[in-house]
Amino acid sequence: MSHFLTSFDARSAAVRVRFGPGVRHQLADEITHLGCRRALILSTPPQADGAMEMAADLKGMAAGVFTRAAMHTPVAVTEEAMEHARSVDADCLVALGGGSTTGLGKAIAYRTDLPQIVIPTTYAGSEATWILGQTENGEKTTVTDPKIQPEVILYDAELVRTLPVDMTVTSALNAMAHAVEALYAENRNPMSTMLAIEGLRAFAAAMPRVIENPEDLDARGETLYGAWLCGTVLGQVGMALHHKLCHTLGGSFDLPHAETHAVVLPHALAYNSIAVPDLLAPVTGIFGGSNPGRALFDFARSMGAPLALRDLGLKRDDVAKAAELATRKPYWNPQPVTRPAIDELLLAAWAGDPPAA
Ligand code: NAD
Repeated sequence: MSHFLTSFDARSAAVRVRFGPGVRHQLADEITHLGCRRALILSTPPQADGAMEMAADLKGMAAGVFTRAAMHTPVAVTEEAMEHARSVDADCLVALGGGSTTGLGKAIAYRTDLPQIVIPTTYAGSEATWILGQTENGEKTTVTDPKIQPEVILYDAELVRTLPVDMTVTSALNAMAHAVEALYAENRNPMSTMLAIEGLRAFAAAMPRVIENPEDLDARGETLYGAWLCGTVLGQVGMALHHKLCHTLGGSFDLPHAETHAVVLPHALAYNSIAVPDLLAPVTGIFGGSNPGRALFDFARSMGAPLALRDLGLKRDDVAKAAELATRKPYWNPQPVTRPAIDELLLAAWAGDPPAA
């Protein structure tokens, strides 16, 4: 059956994107280009030194530095950062870091409409979307709004060189998950499919070189290119089973974000390949083999990725609870989502077995 789409909707955001080793040193020009003069620089505590260096580089254009960005974007931290932004009269935000820091910048922009420049240091891809996930009273909610979309992204390969290899691998698989689910998204379009395929190709080509030499700037640059494409596609189309499972495991069992994506992806992919083998054929085209789920499982294993949810702290008894939560409300997925099938999928992912299909 042909899956060529004759009718579709598409969206692309007006984002200024610059790539290049050392491009972060052009930050002052980018702030001026936005018509701004007083940037608030954001980071997590471990990346505070980098944020301070950036502020020193900017001289008078750095109004302040806030280094308390945290996982899952707690609203209390956002409020603290907004108070800081007001007190230093900031007119724009610079997020230096991964999805957590980008999330803080987006949360402030959502409330203030301050323009944002993101300098990503992981492959999460949040910088390329107008989606914000934030937590309050232990509950994570998601909002989408054009104000959330960062205006400028500076992809500097020198900054991802410090990403430890284990985080590099899980972050890459986290990015690739966006592309895999975009291939069969209900609202996919020809452009989202092209972005997804090219994003996967970039990671497949660059990751073995990064693992061999994490300092390889060309390979690191190609992984950032992949992250941009995979993040962009996440902002354009809806996700399905894989993201639902990861949100359930992260939200209700506190499993780590990128690692959970890394473990679940081959299983979700295998599950859906039964329904849409032709849409997932690019995966085997890129990673080899004849079975997309197995191809990605082997690729993940070759990179030393975590393969079992039990190694991430999920208890055997929680497998059924997670399956129950992930199947409670119906949602769109190419292969119908049934409780026994999700039990089986999660059990294989818990044990670290290769995917069934
Ligand atoms: P992260 O931002 O939480 O970073 C993890 C840790 O790695 C932090 O301590 C950070 O300081 C450190 N780190 C980051 N880059 C580093 C580097 N180059 N060298 C050394 N250490 C570095 O992790 P993440 O996986 O990038 O982001 C996860 C968060 O992003 C989740 O909350 C997720 O929900 C969110 N996210 C949101 C979207 C979206 O579109 N809204 C998309 C993807 C992810």
